[in-house]
Amino acid sequence: MSVTVALTLDEALTALATDPAATVLAGGTDLMVELNGGHRRAASVVAVNRVRELRSWRHDPAAGTLWLGAAVTYTEIAQEPIAALVPALAQAARTVGSPQIRNAATLGGNVGTASPAGDGLPVLAALDAVVHLASAGATRDVPFAEFATGPKRTVLQPGELITGVTVPVLHGYQGYSKVGVRNAMVIATASACLAVDVASRSVRFAMGSVGPVILRAPEAEAIAAAAADFDAGTIPSEVVERFGAAAGAAARPIDDHRSTAAYRRRAIEVLARRLLARAFPAGAPIGGDA
Ligand SMILES: Cc1cc2nc3c(=O)[nH]c(=O)nc-3n(C[C@H](O)[C@H](O)[C@H](O)COP(=O)(O)OP(=O)(O)OC[C@H]3O[C@@H](n4cnc5c(N)ncnc54)[C@H](O)[C@@H]3O)c2cc1C
Repeated sequence: MSVTVALTLDEALTALATDPAATVLAGGTDLMVELNGGHRRAASVVAVNRVRELRSWRHDPAAGTLWLGAAVTYTEIAQEPIAALVPALAQAARTVGSPQIRNAATLGGNVGTASPAGDGLPVLAALDAVVHLASAGATRDVPFAEFATGPKRTVLQPGELITGVTVPVLHGYQGYSKVGVRNAMVIATASACLAVDVASRSVRFAMGSVGPVILRAPEAEAIAAAAADFDAGTIPSEVVERFGAAAGAAARPIDDHRSTAAYRRRAIEVLARRLLARAFPAGAPIGGDA
């Protein structure tokens, strides 16, 4: 196997232009498992986890955005200063594997694998992230919702690299929660991210492990946004119930070796209710219609 260790973005893109069939390697926490298990083959590899442009991140306060390079690790995302800018992504990062895995695993690798169980992905979906791609001489931006086309399938073309993602820095509650068979080192049976954007009076809700790709729950989002008092931080408690039911209805879970569809749908209902109640902790206003 030939291995190119790129140190700059130019080097990585040139290596991929010369050999578009090459496999991109970042932290290797997904790829090496697949190669070692014989589920995937790679004649040549371009390692990108030392590419300085991909290891960097940038907060643009004027635009209200955060750009995260593809090779930023979950350890970095779990800590300040990134954690304060995207709290839900930091929460998701803290649930990924073990400290050793988080030190190597990158956000770009999570996006590249495009598993419906990827912990960073419901957050990117809820935040309407933009995925930035580059090949030699060309770049394109893909809305996160269009990046994955199925389980572990994406729009990424041979020779193309994920350079990073951009997310908005929102004002409002953000939370990520997952259900699994144990508390640590676990692949999500169901996962969810809720993000409130006080400026646009919106509630965003995305779900993992309950469909072929990460799903949003637009009806549930509309129910919450219509009933919430964004200034007072209140929401009628009956709306929390309806929100959970609508989120569960939007899930498209299947039975597999990890769980049943019925359990996953139920888990989404519970996660949705829990996250919405955390987002509006003041509960229903006194004398309200709850
Ligand atoms: C023990 C263990 C526990 C784990 N626990 C979790 C968990 O709790 N939650 C979770 O979400 N994941 C978990 N994972 C999976 C894995 O750690 C994550 O998906 C991680 O984010 C992958 O990142 P990576 O840098 O290691 O990617 P790699 O393995 O290097 O690459 C993954 C895929 O993305 C492609 N790729 C990587 N970077 C780029 C790029 N810049 N451009 C284009 N393609 C790219 C690769 O070609 C490959 O197909 C676990 C893995 C292990 C081994």
